[in-house]
Amino acid sequence: MTTIKTRAEDIYGRLEEHVFSGKIVSSSPDDPLGTIRMTTELAWFPERIIPKDEIVRGVKRVRLPRKGSKTFKVNGSMGDVYTVTKQGKVWSCTCVGYGFRRTCSHIKTAITRDKKKRVRNRIT
Ligand SMILES: [Zn+2]
Repeated sequence: MTTIKTRAEDIYGRLEEHVFSGKIVSSSPDDPLGTIRMTTELAWFPERIIPKDEIVRGVKRVRLPRKGSKTFKVNGSMGDVYTVTKQGKVWSCTCVGYGFRRTCSHIKTAITRDKKKRVRNRIT
């Protein structure tokens, strides 16, 4: 279960804040760019779409890679590119999902690439 807070202007230009709880689920191909999908536990409205730029917490946790770190560019499902960083044994990603769950599919992709690279280096 994840709780996120959003902040957006309503039609009168007033700032409105909302708190949503649910599970982050994968977006549908029809969803607008730059949005996430979250469950609501309401039978008549099972999932809501939330624009990433309205999320107050859990986003834009971009850490600059330090010495001894590796970075991987991983394509997201909606054409966006995320930076996955390996710092020692710790993996991190610039996507929203990582901000909530501390893991994501991009990290899995990067780990696979990292392993393949190491195997190749051993052979050659
Ligand atoms: Zn990610």
